[in-house]
Amino acid sequence: MTKSSVRTLDSELSQFRVKGEIPVPTLINGLTAAAVPLLMFYSWRSTQHGDSITSPLLLSFAVLLAANAIMFLITGQKTLQRRVFITLITGLFTYLATYAVEDGSAIIWLFAYPPIIFYISEARIGIFACMGGWLAVLGLFSPLGDALFDTPYSTTLKITLIIVLAFEMVTCYILDQSRRRSKLGLIKLAKEFEYAAKHDALTGLANRREGLEQLEAEYQRYLRNRRPFSVLLMDIDLFKQVNDTHGHQAGDDTIVLVGQTLTDHSRKVDTIVRWGGEEFLILLPETATEDAEASAERVRKAVANQIVQADNKSITVTVSIGVATIQGSESIDRLLQHADEALYKAKSEGRNRTCRADFR
Ligand code: GH3
Ligand code: MG
Ligand code: MG
Repeated sequence: MTKSSVRTLDSELSQFRVKGEIPVPTLINGLTAAAVPLLMFYSWRSTQHGDSITSPLLLSFAVLLAANAIMFLITGQKTLQRRVFITLITGLFTYLATYAVEDGSAIIWLFAYPPIIFYISEARIGIFACMGGWLAVLGLFSPLGDALFDTPYSTTLKITLIIVLAFEMVTCYILDQSRRRSKLGLIKLAKEFEYAAKHDALTGLANRREGLEQLEAEYQRYLRNRRPFSVLLMDIDLFKQVNDTHGHQAGDDTIVLVGQTLTDHSRKVDTIVRWGGEEFLILLPETATEDAEASAERVRKAVANQIVQADNKSITVTVSIGVATIQGSESIDRLLQHADEALYKAKSEGRNRTCRADFR
């Protein structure tokens, strides 16, 4: 997996929320709500022990964490909230370890760091933070660390802590990876479902339901800006004969090729829909009748020039097209009815032609 694909995956993962998953900002606020009274409690204990440095420092961390939560509630800036939180807890844990707060027992709080970091940040930040944290602890426990900080940690505690911390970090990484993979699997599944619900399985074109949704969206745009749109309703001519002569598979291949031809000869903004068995609809946004007719003629000729190789034979088909443009305050149903009437006219006038619904 490349660096950029890891980043895409991470940003994609953070955009989707699986049901039941706690959002990162909520978790940070929850952790802040728990940390503030705890810090105040330890700050008070430090006063009792006559520790004049730790007490105000812990109180400052409590104030900064609370301020970060309040800032988030006001501005809603998630990234800033997360970055400040990570910086503050990294600073706090560093202080707890290097100054051996609470007779050196506060270093145990380091075990809270890996699961929090992996949950609230991207995988690579979690890895960097944990590796950095582990190396820092190793440095603290080294002769140089002893010389610099004068900590009371016994050799037994140092060995155990460094091993268990590494063990915990690796476990957190594995759990985090499997959580991310499961989530990605769910996202992929949801996307596949969404695609299947909107597309026709044979041609890959939009299905009728999706076509109707696009029509509704275009209709709403029309009501706002009054720029008319058109539809081309088309039907393959004498298609039953194709099936009867060459078989159902050749019929399917023909439908696929017609769909492809329509796509190749339409604009990017047009929606091509498999409307029914051998019927297609093309939605032409912001297109008046004359332009729609020109488009219809273009695709009609393109289909007639296509050759399907099937059943060891070359099959050619034609389409008849009904063109209708939205007018006044008529409904979508009415527009489709007019397109259908125009298509019927094209069929009755001999097929392989375009007719417009101007007989209203
Ligand atoms: P017309 O020019 O009047 O439209 O004649 P036609 O033969 O195309 O019309 P008709 O509606 O009688 O026949 C349509 C045929 O299309 C019947 C149906 O079996 C076939 N058909 C519909 N969907 C599919 C499909 O997905 N695959 C195949 N192979 N055939 C299909
Ligand atoms: Mg038909
Ligand atoms: Mg037909």
